Parts: sequence; C-alpha cells; structure tokens
Amino acid sequence: MRYNIAMQNYPIFIDLNKQACLVVGAGQIALRKIRLMQSAGAKITVIAPEADAELIDEFGDSIHYIARAFSADDIGNYRLITAATNDRAVNQLVSELAQLSNIPVNVVDQPELCSFITPSIIDRSPVLIAISTGGAAPVLARALRSKIESLVPATYGVLAATMNFYRDAVKKRFSKESQRRQFWEEVVNGGVAEHVFAGRQSAAQALLEKQLAQPSTLPKMGEVSLVGGGPGDPDLLTFRALRLMQAADVVLYDRLISPQILDLCRRDAQRLYVGKRRSEHAVPQGEINQLLVDLALQGKKVVRLKGGDPFIFGRGGEEIELLAQAGVPFQIVPGITAASGCSTYAGIPLTHRDHAQSCLFVTGHLKDGSVDLDWKQLSTPRQTVVIYMGLIGLPTICQKLLEHGVSADMEIALIEQGTTAKQRVFTGSISNIVERMSAHEVHAPTLIIIGSVVSLHKTLAWRS
Ligand code: SAH
Repeated sequence: MRYNIAMQNYPIFIDLNKQACLVVGAGQIALRKIRLMQSAGAKITVIAPEADAELIDEFGDSIHYIARAFSADDIGNYRLITAATNDRAVNQLVSELAQLSNIPVNVVDQPELCSFITPSIIDRSPVLIAISTGGAAPVLARALRSKIESLVPATYGVLAATMNFYRDAVKKRFSKESQRRQFWEEVVNGGVAEHVFAGRQSAAQALLEKQLAQPSTLPKMGEVSLVGGGPGDPDLLTFRALRLMQAADVVLYDRLISPQILDLCRRDAQRLYVGKRRSEHAVPQGEINQLLVDLALQGKKVVRLKGGDPFIFGRGGEEIELLAQAGVPFQIVPGITAASGCSTYAGIPLTHRDHAQSCLFVTGHLKDGSVDLDWKQLSTPRQTVVIYMGLIGLPTICQKLLEHGVSADMEIALIEQGTTAKQRVFTGSISNIVERMSAHEVHAPTLIIIGSVVSLHKTLAWRS
C-alpha cells in the first residue's frame, strides 16, 4: 500500500478585519463558523430562510441577516464564503458560483466543494496555532490539538503582546540582529515569560525593562516553583505543574511522588530525593529550605514537587518563607489534595447533602505517642472527617470517638494509595475497622474518612 504524503494545502492566515464575508445557512454549524469569523473582525452577511434562535440571540444586529433562500445573485464582493446548509444542492451551487468569481469558499463537511479548509486551532491570540490533516484524519487533528493545548500556557498570547509592545524599544537599544535575538531568547526562556505565565504582568514588564537597561550586568537569578503533584495519578497534574516540570533544571521530590509523575519531569533535570520515611529522616526541613535558596541563586529553575497540595499538611509555607526572605522569585502551583483525590476515586462524596454539612481535614500525626486532636469537634454530627497521616493512630482515633459518644456503627473508610493503580478501599465501622484491618498488610500512604457519606461507596465506587 502506498500513501499519499504530499502536502495537501498551502497554509495561510487571512485578514478578515472589516472584510465582508458571506455565510449561507444559519444553523448550529453556521453559528460556530460565524463566532470564529466574527472574532477575527469579519463583517458577516448570513442568508438562510430560517435561523437558529440561538444564532439570532447571540449575534443580533452585529450580523446582516437576510431571511430567505440563497440565490445566484447573492454572490457579491466577498472576501470569503462559507456554506453550512444541510441541502447539498445549495452547497454545490454556492461552491460553484464562488469559485467562478474566484472567491475562496468552504463548504462544511464537503471537502470536494471547498477551495479552502479550516484547521483545528489553538487560540492564544495573537498567537494562533493551526492544525490540519488535509482531511485525512480529523480525530488525529483534535488529539494533537488537546496535546498542544495542555502544553502552551493560557497566557502565551499575553507574552506575545508584551513582546510586541517592546519591539521598537528593543530595536532602538540593540542595533545588531543577533543581539536582539539573544535578548528575546532570554525573555522567552527566562524570568519574564515565567512572570507572565504566573499572571504577574507588572513584574514581567519591570524585569524586561531592567534587562533592557542593563542586559549584561544582571546576575542570573533562578526561580523556585512549589508544585503540587496531586495524590498519585499523573493525569491529575495541572497543566502548569506539567509545564514547569518539563522546564526544570532541578527537581526536589519526596516519598509521595510516584515514579510515573517523576517520569514526566524534563529528562535532563537533576533529581534530588529529599523525602522522609516515617521514622528515618532524609534531609531535615531546614536544609531543604536552604537548598532551594542556594539552587535558585545559582540561576537554576527549581521545582519543589510535593504530594497533593503544597499548602495542605505539606509544609509548603515553611519552604517558601526563606525564599521570600532571600528575595528569590517563587510561585506556587496548587495540586489536588489527597482528601479530594482519594474520596472521588473511592466514590465517597465528602459533602453529600443528605449526610454532611461540613468537612474537616485533620492530621492524625502522633505527638509523644498520643494522638493530639480535638475529640469534641471530631464527634460533631452531620460532618465528614478526613484524617491525613492517621494510620498509626487509627486504634486511638476509633477509641476516642467512641468515648466521645459517636455511635459504634459510624462508618469509616481507609483508602490506601488512593488514585493510583494500587488503590484499595477498606470500609467498616469505628468499632470493627481495627480488627478488620489486622488481616491486611497496608502500605502508606493511607487516608481515613469518617462519616455517614462512607455508606455511598457501596453504590458509587467506580475504581475498586
Ligand atoms: N500535601 C499532601 C498531604 C501530605 S501529608 C496533600 O495535599 O495530599 C501525607 C498524608 O497524605 C499521608 O500520610 C496520607 O494520609 C495522605 N495521602 C497523600 N497521598 C495519598 C494517597 N495517594 N492515598 C492515600 N493517602 C494519601
């Protein structure tokens, strides 16, 4: 079998600003085309005997709607024409007449009638990415599109607009093309772009102006990103987490970070394990904090990758305090916390309104051999209690709740390695769970959920 792999079309981007364009048809498909053409500034005439109510609602007077069937005289002086009717004869007529008048024409879903096709797009205006498979495999174009969508930050367009704003100033400042290119590369790959992507526009402009004033004298300063890696399933990372992981020079990670997530970091990035196991301490917290500062001062892009959300029982706050004091730029990326990830993957809606009005996140970390919790608060009815780091304290927790008047059949779930392929969910009541668990070997991490919402697991479980 031989495939045709010649280029099917010549790609161009066309200026439609204030240009007269014709759309024949006024259904849902026409609506989508009109929306896009209008965002490119087109002046649109629509011809169709009847129009979709939503179309009229949305565009009203901003389009010129002619309520009748298309006829041959309608081909006027248009920049381009789109036919989106479900009448093949009309589509054919529009296509023939347009081509006779040398007007580019697109007929939706009938490639043989088109003189141009519309690509799948990723819109980060003024940056536009267009994908076409020349009609060979539209699903492939869409798959590729979602891949690119996830990799190109939402504010990419803002970066382009910022660069455009400074174009003349940069031209004035650097006479040589090579100097200008070097300057812009530093902008795109360095702190200015990072500021824009993190939504700090004025900091981005201030840095760009500083670099413009003294390009060579600036010390190279790195940045630390405190990134929430979520509860384990790599699909639960945020777009921003993934982008920063793929741009990192150094990644500091701990025990909760699964190998699959670590694999998504840039291949050449240096990986430093700084985690703790329950009793043995790897790198003391103070040293981690200092290491982050030192690496950033060496100009490195540092990612501090933490399980779940960095601000929920993650000591994220402590790690950035020192950065703030040392004037090191940092940003924080939230992650899906274990309570959220584990409960959804176990089919336990934490605040189902038939069961709970509030939800409490607590840590069950042992202090001097005892579990130090506000038992009265934990025993309040109509609430769900989520306990992080509670496995060791489980017998004490159950005992104390019973002593504080919680019913012996209050339901409890233990979720082991939630959201990962190894997830297991154990359920029982606070009077029998310890006994039940003794038959199993349980591996960290585990999360405990207490409350009548746990009963919903029986019907809503979808993973295990
Ligand atoms: N910052 C993290 C929590 C760190 S504390 C977050 O937001 O999720 C560590 C505790 O989190 C573990 O002892 C365990 O109770 C819980 N945990 C984290 N990931 C988990 C997972 N995949 N399954 C079950 N529990 C998890």
